[in-house]
Amino acid sequence: MNQPYFDVGAALQEVRARIDRSARDSGRTPADVQLVCVSKGKEAEEIVPALEAGERAFGENRVQEAQRKWPGLRDCYSGVELHLIGSLQTNKVRDAVALFDVIETLDRPKLAEALAKEYQATSRRPELYVEINTGREPQKAGILPEKADEFIAFCRDQCALPVTGLMCIPPAYEQASPHFALLALIARRNGITKLSMGMSADYELGIQLGATHVRVGSAIFGARHYPA
Ligand SMILES: *Cc1c(COP(=O)(O)O)cnc(C)c1O
Repeated sequence: MNQPYFDVGAALQEVRARIDRSARDSGRTPADVQLVCVSKGKEAEEIVPALEAGERAFGENRVQEAQRKWPGLRDCYSGVELHLIGSLQTNKVRDAVALFDVIETLDRPKLAEALAKEYQATSRRPELYVEINTGREPQKAGILPEKADEFIAFCRDQCALPVTGLMCIPPAYEQASPHFALLALIARRNGITKLSMGMSADYELGIQLGATHVRVGSAIFGARHYPA
């Protein structure tokens, strides 16, 4: 499954340079934008070049896949920060809380309640981002924009959960900018400072509109072998 001709180190340099440039161009400090390398669908040996190049924040979309790959990598590289960027089933909450440092896909009350229960039972407290369905797409996860304030308050006040960020995945065939702007607006009025927005195709736009985290997969690791 390896792509022997894909140079992760070179691709990473390019992505870092573009992050730097778009941060500076929009009057921001490059250090305020964190690159989350999306390693879903990639095997441990394909991820190693990014770790060797100094990257420490990684995104995975499946709990079981991450459980298989990351304990071994963490034994070799310290300071890894793992982000869950795929939907979380309540029966996987325990495993996710044990493994991840940031869960970016808090998207429904049942999940908030399950997380609250687990946070009470363990000393681990991963940061939580609420996923907003900015495009109101019926097939997509996330809280509808008009329900966001109420849901964020529920998570914080009723469930005592550490909601520190918002995340969105704009509709595939639309301009991303209105969605990023909407996410930033919802964050601002809820006193939330972290914005996870922008993927390989549009991370520079995300940065222009205030992203503190960009989730970049294929631009770093090459095309994936399974669709996800
Ligand atoms: C796969 C995925 C990414 C990365 O996508 P690329 O286009 O490969 O950069 C980012 N965010 C989420 C939620 C994803 O599922």
